[in-house]
Amino acid sequence: MSKQFALFGHPVTHTLSPRIHRAFARDLGIDMEYRAVDTAPDDFKAALDRFAEAGGVGGNVTLPLKEAAFGLCADLSPAARRAQSVNTLIRTDHGWHGENTDGAGLVRDLTDRHRLDLRGRRTLLLGAGGAARGVAPALLEAGIDKMVVVNRSAERADRLVDLLDAPGRVASRYWEDLEALGDFELVINATSATRHGGALKLPFGLASPRFVVVDLNYGEAAAPFLSWGRAAKAEAAIDGLGMLVEQAAEAFQRWHGRRPDTDDLYASLRAEHARLQTAD
Ligand code: NDP
Repeated sequence: MSKQFALFGHPVTHTLSPRIHRAFARDLGIDMEYRAVDTAPDDFKAALDRFAEAGGVGGNVTLPLKEAAFGLCADLSPAARRAQSVNTLIRTDHGWHGENTDGAGLVRDLTDRHRLDLRGRRTLLLGAGGAARGVAPALLEAGIDKMVVVNRSAERADRLVDLLDAPGRVASRYWEDLEALGDFELVINATSATRHGGALKLPFGLASPRFVVVDLNYGEAAAPFLSWGRAAKAEAAIDGLGMLVEQAAEAFQRWHGRRPDTDDLYASLRAEHARLQTAD
C-alpha cells in the first residue's frame, strides 16, 4: 500500500497542498497518497487517531488547527516549540512528532527565489497568530534588524514578543499607533484580515526608501496589501505563494529525506496566479 499522508484543516476546499505534494512525489518517484481531510476543531484528535490507525504516517495542518496540533504532539522540533504551532506531523512509535516549516519556507522563498537580502532590515510584522509566530524566529535568525510586532489584539502581540525572548530587538506596539512608528524596510502581513474580503488600513509613512512588502496570503487575499505596498513605492511586493511551495518542500523533506526541486511547480502555480503577479 502507498504511504498515507493528509492535510487537516477546516475548510480545505481550496487548498493547493495535495496538488503540491503529489507533484513532488511524482517528480521524485515516491509512492504516496496525499488527501485533504476537512476536520472540525472538536473532531481533530479523533480524526488524527483514525488516520494513524489506518496507517497514516505524515500530515500537514492548516487553519484553524495548528495550535491544537501543537497540543496533540508527543514531541516537537525547536521551531514548533518556539512557534507554539505545528504545520507538519510525522508519525513515530510514541505518537506524533510536530514540526513548523513556515519560517524556513518564507526565508527560503525570500532569499533564494526573490534574492532579497534580509540582513539589517527594520521590520514590521502585522499579526501575531500561528503564521506570525512561525515566521518571526526565522526572520530574526536570517539577520533582520529590529522587529516591531503589531496585532489587532495587543495581548497576542505581547505574547509573541515574550516568546521570541529577544529584548532590545523585538517590541510590540498598538495598531492605533501605526502612524507614529516611523518607517520600515520590510513590512510583512501575517494577518488573515483580507481572507474574507476585508481590508487593512495602513499609513504610507511606514515606507522607507528601501521598502519591501511581503504578504503571507496569496491570490485575492493578498491583493489589498500588495496594492498598498506598490502605491507606497515598494521595491518589491511578494505574496505567499512561494512560501506555500517552500514550506511544503520542507515538510516533504522531513517525511522522505529528499528535498524536491520547487522551481517548475512554483512557475506553473505563478502562471495561474499571473493576474495578481507580484511586482518584484
Ligand atoms: P491565525 O488565525 O492564527 O491568526 C490570524 C491573525 O490575523 C491574527 O493576528 C489576527 O489578529 C489577525 N486578524 C484577523 N482578522 C483581522 C482584522 N480584521 N484586522 C486585523 N487583524 C486581523 O492565522 P494564521 O496566523 O495561521 O494565518 C494568517 C494568514 O497567513 C492566513 O491568511 C493564512 O492563510 C496565511 N498563511 C500563509 C501561509 C503560506 O504558506 N503562504 C502559511 C501560513 C499562513 P487577532 O489576534 O487580534 O485575532
